[in-house]
Amino acid sequence: MGRPVNLFATLDQAAARFGDRGAVFRGEEQLHTWNQLRDRALRLAASLRRTYAPGQRIAIASENRAEIVELFYAVWAAECVVVPVNFKLHPREMVQIIEDSSAATVFASPKIAAELTPQSPVVVELIGGPDYEQLFTASPLAPPSTDPSTLAWLFYTSGTTGRSKGAMLSHRNLTAMTVAHLADIDSPDENCSLLHAAPMSHGSGLYIAPYVLRGARQVVPASGAFDPDEFLDLCASHSGSSAFLAPTMIQRLVGTGRHAPAALRTIVYGGGPMYVDGLKKAMAAFGPIFAQIYGQGESPMTITGLRRADHESDDDAILGSVGTARSGVEVAVLGEDGTPVESGQIGEIVCRGDVVMSGYWNNPDATRDTLKHGWLYTGDMGSFDQQGFLTLRDRSKDVVISGGSNIYPREVEEALLEHPGVAEACVVGAPDPEWGEVVVAFIVGSADDAELDAHLLDRIARFKRPKRYVLVDDLPKNSYGKVLKRELRARLG
Ligand code: AMP
Repeated sequence: MGRPVNLFATLDQAAARFGDRGAVFRGEEQLHTWNQLRDRALRLAASLRRTYAPGQRIAIASENRAEIVELFYAVWAAECVVVPVNFKLHPREMVQIIEDSSAATVFASPKIAAELTPQSPVVVELIGGPDYEQLFTASPLAPPSTDPSTLAWLFYTSGTTGRSKGAMLSHRNLTAMTVAHLADIDSPDENCSLLHAAPMSHGSGLYIAPYVLRGARQVVPASGAFDPDEFLDLCASHSGSSAFLAPTMIQRLVGTGRHAPAALRTIVYGGGPMYVDGLKKAMAAFGPIFAQIYGQGESPMTITGLRRADHESDDDAILGSVGTARSGVEVAVLGEDGTPVESGQIGEIVCRGDVVMSGYWNNPDATRDTLKHGWLYTGDMGSFDQQGFLTLRDRSKDVVISGGSNIYPREVEEALLEHPGVAEACVVGAPDPEWGEVVVAFIVGSADDAELDAHLLDRIARFKRPKRYVLVDDLPKNSYGKVLKRELRARLG
């Protein structure tokens, strides 16, 4: 067995090395140095330990707040498990996660507590109030030494395909993610900053560990959410800023018409498709500061990555890909018989490595369907090219099978988005007695059917063209900005 590893070690190292430098900021305001953050986390850990045994789940339901950083480290120091809950969920969905994880308590911001408290099955602790500050009066706990397979985070998946499940992530999994991030995506130092613009319950929160390890400032916007102008202003006031953003957030940044402040270093994007057209516009506005990750809660932020340098390619196939396998991760594409397919062939993407979860919390059936023969079955379809760039097609259940041919919605969406009248597009299959399924495109924008047909005939095979175009004001999205295809399918009856 290797050396015991606890994610708390990332903070321990930062404090030893960068002690009195600023660590946590609310907007432009410095709240704590690294020494103070370490001290607060260990005091809070001691308070937690009075009530909660190692291994207990502690939920956190809050818009982005600076306290989330100390809460994560305190829970890890106490050898408990964080259960971050997306604050944009309906209180009923939050309760489902609290119940599913059998969390012992939930730390909630005043805003979320007001909605959650009446329905919560467990005590709701208010973040930031006088009782919260009381928790820091305990004497600090000694930094822990934890077996790396110990659970650190129950990561609830976004549930675009149904009820959300808790991916069990250990200290080892998140350490592997940390190392891969620093190796492949962004290599910050103590003069850099991480701006938490996307929800800290998911991607942005996962990135706390690599940036803390390097002593990069943790900056939480005062609004607690993503506001493009606030984000760009903050980038200008913190040196070497990096952030994880969902593709829709990048579109909103581009929409401001502003240029990148010089201090904006890296935007890491992922979690949903970034169309080539949109990516090129973003690079034209902000320069070559982008890196893409493809991952899922089950292999957090880490399956493949399109590195910053890859974005300089003038090959649209590379820009439209999700990059190459990440450091320490083996990725394969399997055909229907479960064996790897040749490059260029489409199949299900699987991966393995230290970053992959050990299973779903309390859900052996889902675990058995997802972790097979030592591989994580992602449910995503894709193909490798000769150089190892992976192109994601769609989730296996989103593939449209029309007249026996597989049609990958993403390809049709990419082509539609090249039309100047199309702002957003989402392609789904609708049941059809003759074809099995037919392609239907939901479109935000203005263009008539004949125009779109002609546009697509120049770009993709005839049989892939939508049989119907439905113009809509907007596309239904979940709170991560992912389009809810099941809702669009339901509209088609
Ligand atoms: P979640 O676990 O909720 O983050 O959802 C993960 C899913 O989001 C993956 O299985 C993919 O279907 C999708 N996804 C993640 N990263 C990307 C990306 N870079 N491009 C397209 N889709 C992505």
